[in-house]
Amino acid sequence: MAAIVTLHTNHIAVAGAGLLGRLVAWQLLADGHAVTLYDAGDLDTPPAAAWTAAGMVAPLCETAISERCVHDMGRFALDQWPRWLEAIDAPALWQQNGSLMVAHPQDLGELTQFRRDLEHALGGNAPCQSLDAREIHRLEPDLASGFRQGLYLPDEAHLDNRALLSCLLEAIRALGGECHGHCPVETFPGEVVTPDGARRFDLVVDCRGTGARPHHPSLRGVRGETLHVQTAEIRLLRPVRLMHPRYQLYVVPKPGDRFVIGATQIESEDRSPMSLQSSLELGSALYTLSPAFAEARILEQGVNLRPAFLDNLPHVTRQHGLVTANGLFRHGYLLAPAVVCHLLADIRGHGDQPFADILAACPPQESAA
Ligand SMILES: Cc1cc2nc3c(=O)[nH]c(=O)nc-3n(C[C@H](O)[C@H](O)[C@H](O)COP(=O)(O)OP(=O)(O)OC[C@H]3O[C@@H](n4cnc5c(N)ncnc54)[C@H](O)[C@@H]3O)c2cc1C
Repeated sequence: MAAIVTLHTNHIAVAGAGLLGRLVAWQLLADGHAVTLYDAGDLDTPPAAAWTAAGMVAPLCETAISERCVHDMGRFALDQWPRWLEAIDAPALWQQNGSLMVAHPQDLGELTQFRRDLEHALGGNAPCQSLDAREIHRLEPDLASGFRQGLYLPDEAHLDNRALLSCLLEAIRALGGECHGHCPVETFPGEVVTPDGARRFDLVVDCRGTGARPHHPSLRGVRGETLHVQTAEIRLLRPVRLMHPRYQLYVVPKPGDRFVIGATQIESEDRSPMSLQSSLELGSALYTLSPAFAEARILEQGVNLRPAFLDNLPHVTRQHGLVTANGLFRHGYLLAPAVVCHLLADIRGHGDQPFADILAACPPQESAA
């Protein structure tokens, strides 16, 4: 395969400093390219979905509701993230303590159904363990005592995503990357148009998430909401998911006695603040996980849009001078390693691009860009 860029050192623009943009910019700088990174928002507190996200890397939890390839790319991520975090000297941001799924007695059917779906998707080889009340208590002693059955998925991980985004920005700057916040851009083959005018590059990589609709008319945003709470009254070692007939609540522990709680996935591009209904549902479900959450302080309510194609899978498109990577949907941290390694192999001209059959496929209802 021919490399997209041919000189040893190129000037490459990366549009969008969310999850994909930062990873790609950092890797291209490490390859010796000159990189200019643009984001429409603030670089320290970006408007990216990556900033709002919970940072779970949960290939099994997602398998029951996604394509099999999401699981396969997710397993790739479980190997790749620790390597990248070592490389930016931040291994502690990665926690691989598994995930725990529980259900209240009246909802145990949800847990059983989840396990069936998982076994079906993975041909009966799902690495998960059924737990009784004693085993749940041993794993997470601070959870409410009423949970009689649970599932433990030992391979799964979570990371401190906001700290990761900050570390990546630091690494980009340390390698000489030129970074522009508050700078919305439009991208074209070999050209970026900023509010100050057009600028030429050897290659433009578009990682603008939902902002890349000019290239992808079929791209949509899927609303997600999170609560950030803080309490020293409860400690969790791993993400806990509460199965419920209408939603799966997740609680992800973060440093500083913080927890990110989410559940919602709404087919809407509304970015307005969280609704009262979501706030009540998240809060009361959280309280049933442990009454110790009652005194938690609400620090933040987050709303953002997950960038998604019609098939809810990521796609990388290429033409001379312009590459786009998008559509990570609800799986940004799970799929970014596969997408970034695929894209870099393309730029480097390596023949063996991982997951080429999925990622290089044209997004549905779009002709090749
Ligand atoms: C509530 C919620 C919870 C989530 N939880 C998880 C999770 O636990 N695990 C997981 O794997 N995934 C999760 N995700 C999904 C994950 O956040 C996304 O898949 C991922 O962030 C997508 O990465 P991206 O780089 O494509 O887009 P983004 O992270 O959204 O970054 C796009 C960037 O492009 C910038 N941009 C847009 N337009 C322009 C423009 N014109 N010019 C310059 N810059 C522009 C934006 O400002 C933004 O910074 C969650 C998402 C949400 C909303």
